[in-house]
Amino acid sequence: MSQVDSKRVDRSVPTDARAEPARPEDGTASGASVAILDHTATLESIREKVVAGERLDLEDGLQLMESDDVLALGELADLARRRRGGNDEVYFVQNLYLNQTNVCRVKCKFCAFAVTQKQEGAYTYTAEELVEDALRQRELSGFTEIHMVGGESPHVDFDYYVQIVSQLHEAMPDVHLKLFTASEIHHMSKLGGLTHEQVLRELRDAGLGSLPGGGAEVFADRVRRLVAPGKEHPDNWFDVHRTAHGLGIPTHCTMLYGHVETYAERVDHLLRLRALQDETGGFLAFIPLAFHPENTVFEQRGWKHTAASDDLKLIAVSRLLLDNIPNIKAYWIMMGLPLTQIALHFGANDVQGTVVREEIFHAAGAQTETEQKIDELVRVVREAGRIPVQRDTLYNELRRWDD
Ligand code: SF4
Repeated sequence: MSQVDSKRVDRSVPTDARAEPARPEDGTASGASVAILDHTATLESIREKVVAGERLDLEDGLQLMESDDVLALGELADLARRRRGGNDEVYFVQNLYLNQTNVCRVKCKFCAFAVTQKQEGAYTYTAEELVEDALRQRELSGFTEIHMVGGESPHVDFDYYVQIVSQLHEAMPDVHLKLFTASEIHHMSKLGGLTHEQVLRELRDAGLGSLPGGGAEVFADRVRRLVAPGKEHPDNWFDVHRTAHGLGIPTHCTMLYGHVETYAERVDHLLRLRALQDETGGFLAFIPLAFHPENTVFEQRGWKHTAASDDLKLIAVSRLLLDNIPNIKAYWIMMGLPLTQIALHFGANDVQGTVVREEIFHAAGAQTETEQKIDELVRVVREAGRIPVQRDTLYNELRRWDD
């Protein structure tokens, strides 16, 4: 066992919420180092399970997370993807990113996007302003999806959200509206004195098509209390998604990794998502999101970006454990295009989208472009040896480039 491995053998999900966030070198998952090619043999029993089509368990997940043989993980994940019916197709969607407000009451410690109402740069757009903006953008780009999330502003009411959905839907009935995280849905239920089901029914009837996966962070109580103490309990995240699935609203799921969480907490997070998917089948895709420390308190404490090897490991382990979620996204806006190309060989089959404007990861220091044209995404996917397929939000094929 290498020195790096020896720091990671605590397999319990810690419950001590009083501890301050540890520095990466203290043995948290974010202290991952560059791949070391060794002990492939330790993955042999997992390979046998993958080949036999057997489900991997908690112990397997921990073993995968603790492995520094990143190339072997990638090969195993790609094998699992293919054995479950995956082929060379790689999806992307043409989408517009909007944020309705950056005013937020929650104050997550990892967030560089939120402000208070009185701070400089605070904004809350009306439904009319959002429609006007979207229509203007549509003249420049033929997006098929609007992805919109924002802060949990205490200065709006539930009708504000209903108006946004209904006016966007009315103005662009052919555009899929993927709006609002589970945290925002929970916030709306508080604003309106409604249940999650009542909120979701009303938004669905106004034109909501699906939910993005944000707000999940890492589900473990310990992590939650350290990085997002003001955020609602993860049970609410699950209740919103379970309720949405029951109402025929598909959703996405995420994990924000690379801060204070341990490998055990990562695996626990993934297995909780898998359990809900077993129950409802309503998740379209899983998107691992690497933590960007710039402009957050973590930057002052010395946090760095996750290592590329850790990003690839997350993609691979997600693919291996989430055997019932069909799509794993390599979010290029966070990873950059070269690493995204490699991720396509580590189990990812989706590169997200053309993404016109993205503010949240860029507020936290993402250096990537905020937009890629279709031609560029097609080139990137082709260069990775895969077939680019433009999709709609529900993974219906719109166009393919296999000539
Ligand atoms: S991550 Fe979301 S909920 Fe947390 S402070 Fe930022 S905008 Fe608010």
